[in-house]
Amino acid sequence: MHNLIKMLPDAIANQIAAGEVVQRPASVVKELMENSIDAGASFVQLIVKEAGKVSIQVIDDGKGMSPQDALMSFERHATSKISKAEDLFAIRTMGFRGEALASIASVAQVELKTRREEDELSTLIRMEASVLKANEQVAAPKGTSILVKNLFYNIPARRNFLKSNPVEMRHILDEFQRIALANPEIKFSLIQNEQETYSLPVEKLGKRIVDLFGKSYREQLAACEENTNYVSIKGYVGRPEYAKKTRGEQFFFVNNRFIKSSYLHHAVMSAYERLVPDGTFPFYVLFLTLDPSHIDINVHPTKTEIKFDDERSIYAILQAAIRKTLSLNHLIPSLDFDANVNFRNPSGAISSIPSFSGTNSPRPVQDAWRKLYEGLNDNIEAFERGNVADPSANLFSEPATTIQSKANTWTAESSSHTNFQVMQILNKFLVVTLSGGMLLIDQKKAYQRILFDQFSENLVKKNGVSQQLLFPQILRINPADAVLVEEILGDITDLGFGLTKDAEENYWIQGVPAGIGEEDGQNLLEGILEQVKNEASDLGQNHAEKIARILANRAAIRYQTKKLIAEEMSALVEQLFASTNPSYSPNGEIISRSLNEAEIGQLIG
Ligand code: ADP
Ligand code: MG
Repeated sequence: MHNLIKMLPDAIANQIAAGEVVQRPASVVKELMENSIDAGASFVQLIVKEAGKVSIQVIDDGKGMSPQDALMSFERHATSKISKAEDLFAIRTMGFRGEALASIASVAQVELKTRREEDELSTLIRMEASVLKANEQVAAPKGTSILVKNLFYNIPARRNFLKSNPVEMRHILDEFQRIALANPEIKFSLIQNEQETYSLPVEKLGKRIVDLFGKSYREQLAACEENTNYVSIKGYVGRPEYAKKTRGEQFFFVNNRFIKSSYLHHAVMSAYERLVPDGTFPFYVLFLTLDPSHIDINVHPTKTEIKFDDERSIYAILQAAIRKTLSLNHLIPSLDFDANVNFRNPSGAISSIPSFSGTNSPRPVQDAWRKLYEGLNDNIEAFERGNVADPSANLFSEPATTIQSKANTWTAESSSHTNFQVMQILNKFLVVTLSGGMLLIDQKKAYQRILFDQFSENLVKKNGVSQQLLFPQILRINPADAVLVEEILGDITDLGFGLTKDAEENYWIQGVPAGIGEEDGQNLLEGILEQVKNEASDLGQNHAEKIARILANRAAIRYQTKKLIAEEMSALVEQLFASTNPSYSPNGEIISRSLNEAEIGQLIG
């Protein structure tokens, strides 16, 4: 019997690897440009002919390679970027698999020119289908130029498989845009069939977005920023009314690497819920930065997929960050108060930004607004139908000041700036005077919203403040529920509960979230357990959110009927309108109802 197993020749092994890494001209663009970024380039130029089918060239001014490294770079699994298995968990470069150049050189004709600063001459290497054709010293500028000609010339089946030039060029542009977005501090140029179609100077991210996508993006961007111990998020999101029916302008970068994630996309879309029509997609460019040990990017050769060790936290933090951005930018509608009201925003500056509801505001904003207040208020519809003669009669059409303070930065001091009037009726409802009418608020539901935001934030930031109990309480639970307690222990600790277990496996409540009331600890925890049990079937990714909601509902019960003093009332109103969604409670119930002059008139009849 002969032995049947043979080692594949390198050229074939490379071609097989190329099947994964090099799918089309755009893949070459991605790999070459990423190499230039990794090489510390400050200027990267991409030159393509016939959508990359004739040639793709990337020129950079990065650190270059020694003559020896230049040869090595075409070996498979040759990389300067990692050297041991542990490095895989601390990756800060774009490349690391050492496959790209070897793969590309196996399916094309490649010419590499590279020179380090300290070398006099540059190394020129020519490869064709993995075969070395030339290796010389020539004069060339510092940095690296790689020219890839006739991609797939030696694999006709793959060459024929390429799509039309416009389609392949679209893919190239996608890669170019992603890399340009991720590196605004680097200068880029794109030359397409001898014409420079992009010339991007060094700039800030916002300007880079505008340069890439067009001037109209200037108005639609809202900055987003959130920092927690686990992850920091930075970037821009688009105003809801600019959402498009087509996808393609949604970008996630994790540690500066473009990734695709339907899970993260879902988190963003959930923050836009009710603000954009179904089937439309808002623009976003979001950078997530976290310790590389928390992620695994080695799941796919093209490295556009990623695994997080704690997906749920990322989801919750991202969702909260987008909601905050939308509400801080008044993209989630806020109501107008008397025009002379001044509130301090978190930075201490007095805000006087006119709300979006001015008469010349674009229709889509009103649509978004209307969606939020669906069934609540028909002002705008009525106005559009012509039923309201004078637009100024419309409660919401006067430019006015809107509240900007963040719920968690509100302090008693800022109540001195409030000069809207608020009063309580039946120990249950608040009546607030607005410039064109009045607003009725259900106080319990308002507290639910505010507490929910607070608890969600505590969960995300893992910094719930705990209030120690003088007399620890025993948590009376069915032993069968002990696993449930263990499952939610992390979350309830983050919220501020202190739980300990004694030798008999009894849980003792040592502390409760600040602001909840000591006597309620046992009740609240039992309530959470009960509801978690009932909802266990669909706990899923919103585990923490549910716990926050349950706790908020429980904690708000005591406000069902409760006499509030004046400061509490104005604080409640302010905090509500600084919350992530002043219109709906976390249970999806309407919190407040506004009445304009016409409606009040009608009520009286
Ligand atoms: P990887 O990027 O995964 O390390 P590649 O096959 O893309 O693998 O590149 C192999 C090696 O060649 C890199 O590790 C790097 O040392 C070198 N290299 C490639 N492109 C450049 C460049 N533009 N400038 C400097 N060095 C480069
Ligand atoms: Mg590479």
